Amino acid sequence: MTTKNDCHAIRSRMPDLLFETDLLKTRADFREHLASCPACSHEWQELQMTFALLDEWKTPEPSAYFDGKLHARLRDVIAAPPEGLLERFRSFLLFSTGRQLRPALAGALALVLAVGGGSGLVGLRQHLSGNQASSAALNDLNVLDNNAQALQQMDQLLDESGADEGAPPTT
Ligand SMILES: [Zn+2]
Repeated sequence: MTTKNDCHAIRSRMPDLLFETDLLKTRADFREHLASCPACSHEWQELQMTFALLDEWKTPEPSAYFDGKLHARLRDVIAAPPEGLLERFRSFLLFSTGRQLRPALAGALALVLAVGGGSGLVGLRQHLSGNQASSAALNDLNVLDNNAQALQQMDQLLDESGADEGAPPTT
C-alpha cells in the first residue's frame, strides 16, 4: 500500500531520475510505486512529456547579418585610436553605476565645505601658483573664480535695479 509520505518521497526524486535512466532501472521501489499509484504515475508521465518538449526546442538562429555587423564594429573599435585619459574618465562617469564614486564625491564635498568655498579656492590657487606643472588645474580654478565673481556682480546689479525700479509697472 502507498501513503502520502511515499508519494512525496517518490515525487521529490523524479527530477533526478529523469536524467539518470540507469538509476531508474535499478530503482525497483520507484517503479513499483508508479505501478500502484495512478497519481504519481500521471505526474511522472507529465514530467517526461515536458522534458521531451524541451529537447525539441531549438535556439533561434541569429540574423544572417549578425556576424558581418559584429566584425565590422570590432574592426572599427580596433582601428580607432586609443582613448585618452579624459575620454576614459568620461566613459567611466557615463557608464559606471556611480557606486565607486560616491565616497569620493562625499569626501570632495566635505573638503569644500570644510575649507569654506571661495577662501579655500584662493588658498588652493596660491598653493598651485608655485607649481607650473598644474597649469590646467590653475586654469580651472581661475574659471571658477571668475564665474563666482560674475555671479556676485550680477546679484548686485539685480539688487540695485530692483531697488531703483521699485514695483513693476502694471498695465
Ligand atoms: Zn504516489
